[in-house]
Amino acid sequence: MHESPLPATTPGTSRTISLLLRQARRARQNGEHHLGCQAAADALALCSLPRFRRQRDEALVLLALHSLRLGRLTDAVQYGLEAASVLDFVNDAAIRADVLCTVSMACNEMGLGQDALKYALEALGGARLCDDPLLLSWALNRAGLASFSALGDLEQCVGLLQQAESQARLAADDVACFSALTNLGVTYRAAGLQQEVLGNGDEAQRLFLLARTQFELAEQLARSGNNLHSLATASINLAEIHTNLGNFADSKAALARAQTLAEEGHFTHIRRNVDLAEATLLHHCGQHQAAAAALHALLAQNDVLEFDMKVLAHESLYRLYKECGEFQQALVELEALRRIEQELANQRSSTQGWAIRKELEITSAQLATERERLQAERERLRAARLEAEKAVADARMNELEKAALVDPLTGVGNRRLLDLEGPARLARLGSEGGGLAVVVLDLDHFKSINDRFGHAVGDETLTKVAQLITLRTRSSDLVTRYGGEEFVLLLADTTVESVLVCCERLRLAIMDYSWQEVHPLLHVTASFGLHWCDSPQSWDEALRAADVALYRAKRNGRNRLQLSGDDEAGQTSAAP
Ligand code: GH3
Ligand code: MG
Ligand code: MG
Repeated sequence: MHESPLPATTPGTSRTISLLLRQARRARQNGEHHLGCQAAADALALCSLPRFRRQRDEALVLLALHSLRLGRLTDAVQYGLEAASVLDFVNDAAIRADVLCTVSMACNEMGLGQDALKYALEALGGARLCDDPLLLSWALNRAGLASFSALGDLEQCVGLLQQAESQARLAADDVACFSALTNLGVTYRAAGLQQEVLGNGDEAQRLFLLARTQFELAEQLARSGNNLHSLATASINLAEIHTNLGNFADSKAALARAQTLAEEGHFTHIRRNVDLAEATLLHHCGQHQAAAAALHALLAQNDVLEFDMKVLAHESLYRLYKECGEFQQALVELEALRRIEQELANQRSSTQGWAIRKELEITSAQLATERERLQAERERLRAARLEAEKAVADARMNELEKAALVDPLTGVGNRRLLDLEGPARLARLGSEGGGLAVVVLDLDHFKSINDRFGHAVGDETLTKVAQLITLRTRSSDLVTRYGGEEFVLLLADTTVESVLVCCERLRLAIMDYSWQEVHPLLHVTASFGLHWCDSPQSWDEALRAADVALYRAKRNGRNRLQLSGDDEAGQTSAAP
């Protein structure tokens, strides 16, 4: 059914937009992404008027999501960042975090691990502000995947995905829970394959077994919820891991289940995955010719084949031909892989360039607007010379400043947020049991970092430190940038011993981070002042006590932690 396009301002426009957006939302649920993409694009085209701003935002968010699912990764990043740039940090924190999860996923699939991590952490910051377990679960999930691809940090990734799982259970959301379990399995499997390549067979098997456990848990969940798509996905994953473990009979059985389910649900993507897994199984069983035929049949569907699937198919063919000594054929596959890698590299650099330009554009637009606004205000006041009005304007300016709770450089909370949250969390002590640690963290000799390497390196250092802290604290903790190179953390529901362990972990993480990535000569350490509260007390006093402790940590040589109340000699942790 085709409707003729409506002129942008008919009275029915608003209704048409709502209808299209509803279609695009429903398509998100059904997995009908071609349809959803079209509906969201049609809605976007009708949303040029300022009064349709909210609808425009939603159309962009949905376009980003559907594009991601269709493998149009560059589109997903562009639509997603466009949405993130117009959404408000605080008032739209939830929807902003949601779309940043999409952007992170797209970057990850494009091989832009560092960018994926950056956007996932921004999403995590937003999700923490909203205190919504489901959103937290997705942000943790994306941060977990990105920390594996960007940093190769399996332990970090597992920790984040486990947190994602427990938040999903808290939200009673089976889809998020299934995703966390599955991604845990996928990561263990990827780590196992890496070990296999390195020749560490035993370690590879250990990781494969861990992966199998996660996939089995995911399958149980899918079965109890009777979710056809999840069940099919779990069966494929189990088939693949059984192949890796050498259990070919189990693998065959799981593949047969996946195939039936994929056909029942018309999941063409999963159907192609079954074909690929079947080829891998044939290869492992020594049926090389059949495996090659299956892979060529898969590659013949070039137009609909997902990017990652193409890579996997060519890779398998390359290995297959090499093993059989058919080097001419192997070379053809290698060349195909090289072409794909080139295509991906082009996509990557154009997306990165675009993202940088976008950020510059947004920042300069914000600055220009702000300058114009202040200029106009100043002119007006000079003309009127009305003291009273000036006071009102000052107050309004203060309010504007106060409205923002997020530090724009690092994405963690700002001083304003701490001023709101600190007293509130301290006042709650006693009623809920447990204690609260106020930790002031200040980078050492930061001025000299700026002086030696420039302000941009200083800024990047601050951003990275904020990331390291965010990744190593819990969702219930508060992380804020108090000002300059000073962060204040509120660590809750814990004991003083576990806080000491946590701070030591942070100190080491900052000291040991490979800062050479930022600048070849860069080294960064931080000093910590800690004040422990187990009953309500004045917020100002608690913060001052932590600050005094920090001052002592600095005086005692820096790169160390000092507990408030300890005497001069009694430092808690010394630098090596
Ligand atoms: P200490 O070990 O005693 O803490 O020494 P320090 O050099 O870290 O402390 P000091 O307070 O002397 O210097 C802090 C520096 O932080 C000075 C200022 O230029 C820099 N700074 C503050 N805010 C920012 C920022 O947003 N970006 C950058 N790049 N530098 C900042
Ligand atoms: Mg300092
Ligand atoms: Mg300082």
